[in-house]
Amino acid sequence: MAPHTGVMEHLDVVIIGAGLSGIGAAYRLQTELPGRSYAILEARERLGGTWDLFRYPGVRSDSDMFTLGYPFEPWRDDKSIADGPSILRYVRETAERNGIDKRIRFGVKVIGAEWSSADARWTLTLREGQETRTISCSFVYCCSGYYDYEQGHAPHFPGVENYSGTLVYPQFWPEDLDYAGKKVVVIGSGATAVTLVPAMAEQAEHVTMLQRSPTWISAVPGRDKYADKIRELLPPRLAHRVIRAKNILFSVGFYQYCRRRPEAARKLLTGLTTRILKDEALVAEHFTPSYNPWDQRLCAVPDADFFKAMRKDKAEVVTDHIESFVPEGIRLKSGKVLEADVVVSATGLKLLAFGGISLTVDGSPVDLSEQFVWQGAMLTGVPNFAVCIGYTNASWTLRADLTSRLVCKVLAHMDRRGYSAVVPHPQGSLRERPLLDLSSGYVQRSIAEFPRQGDRSPWRVRQNYLLDSATTLRTNLDKTLKPVSEAAALQRV
Ligand SMILES: Cc1cc2nc3c(=O)[nH]c(=O)nc-3n(C[C@H](O)[C@H](O)[C@H](O)COP(=O)(O)OP(=O)(O)OC[C@H]3O[C@@H](n4cnc5c(N)ncnc54)[C@H](O)[C@@H]3O)c2cc1C
Repeated sequence: MAPHTGVMEHLDVVIIGAGLSGIGAAYRLQTELPGRSYAILEARERLGGTWDLFRYPGVRSDSDMFTLGYPFEPWRDDKSIADGPSILRYVRETAERNGIDKRIRFGVKVIGAEWSSADARWTLTLREGQETRTISCSFVYCCSGYYDYEQGHAPHFPGVENYSGTLVYPQFWPEDLDYAGKKVVVIGSGATAVTLVPAMAEQAEHVTMLQRSPTWISAVPGRDKYADKIRELLPPRLAHRVIRAKNILFSVGFYQYCRRRPEAARKLLTGLTTRILKDEALVAEHFTPSYNPWDQRLCAVPDADFFKAMRKDKAEVVTDHIESFVPEGIRLKSGKVLEADVVVSATGLKLLAFGGISLTVDGSPVDLSEQFVWQGAMLTGVPNFAVCIGYTNASWTLRADLTSRLVCKVLAHMDRRGYSAVVPHPQGSLRERPLLDLSSGYVQRSIAEFPRQGDRSPWRVRQNYLLDSATTLRTNLDKTLKPVSEAAALQRV
């Protein structure tokens, strides 16, 4: 580590990450607690996080932008389900309009955070290029997303060294990849695969989506005609609020319907897909998963673009397993060979807890898997530290924004009570549950490394915005949030 000279800079709050969440967090902090000194530390050279990193053809949201966008910044574009560059522009413009861009320090990766109870402050170790330095702060708000920016999930494919075509990964899309007139195979069946297939089919000779098993896919309108009407009638801010409320009610309602009436939801989704593809056998074979809708994240396809590419014979789905790569493509367990000039391995993200930052509290390393999450935001055993985790069954920003407002409430509460450090502490014991309740492979592979949720409120990470929005900001902070000295005493009892 490079020796540190001079006086260490101190900030009231450090926000880690300048993605959708970090920019939203900064907005809340500077609006609700204008006197605080803060900075956003961003490992990359650009803001936008996910929406800047992913550049594969067709990259887009599958949530509507009235709920994935901020409640305080109307979404003005025509399309409700937006492409990556439009989302990036929206995040950038929000940052610029509110002077947040000037608070971002780019190319600064936080690699360690050490808490000292004696000083009631964090010392952050930062990597800037080859240099390492430290700053201190009173409160850390970690908006670092949920996956590893440096590597995706890359399973080893047998025989891949013999393949004579081009193998690419969506997270690291080669800018100059030319697939016009070529045969493409996309491995995977998640949101990325179903986005890539119609987008690449526009130029490729043919695109095959190779899946091990089906995923629930639902066609949704890319443009929301009700939203258009509301925007014609109302001023932008009011229209944004009304459309947002409508979409929240619809998404919460549909999720609850799927969870409570899985058989009916299965029928509804297969019925919709059959109506588009007009082929019951095809839907039964490739689009009827064994799990129930919303056991894993549901994939939305705007304007049925994915199914339309199939109907035009530009794309097909094959459900099979890879035996091995061969020079001309992929040999399947069934014996069939899929010829491919380009193979895209859309096999998912690698989850990473809290930007991979190593945390220590009073000299002891924090084992995240032993901590519980309070209100989906703060961790037991880790004072003055909050994390921003969005919903898995609804737009990320719905919870991210609630969490940012809760963090402001906590900071104001600390001021009022004269506390320099607080940590959440449960009354009685908690039964542990995994943080995310999804059976998807990418969640199951790494969820053990994340903190746990408890079995009761406010230690449950509910996937229900209506309940959270009614209770999160009304929570009794005195009941759970303890000044650090008191929590330490409770710990010893
Ligand atoms: C292709 C794709 C499509 C998606 N579509 C949707 C969707 O439709 N709806 C939805 O709700 N969600 C979607 N998501 C999830 C999406 O990631 C979130 O919606 C949202 O963008 C997360 O924002 P964030 O700011 O929390 O995290 P990110 O966008 O991941 O940004 C985190 C930022 O933190 C920085 N960072 C990380 N670690 C450190 C560190 N140690 N030091 C400094 N900086 C650090 C990163 O460089 C990055 O800029 C999608 C994800 C992907 C990958």
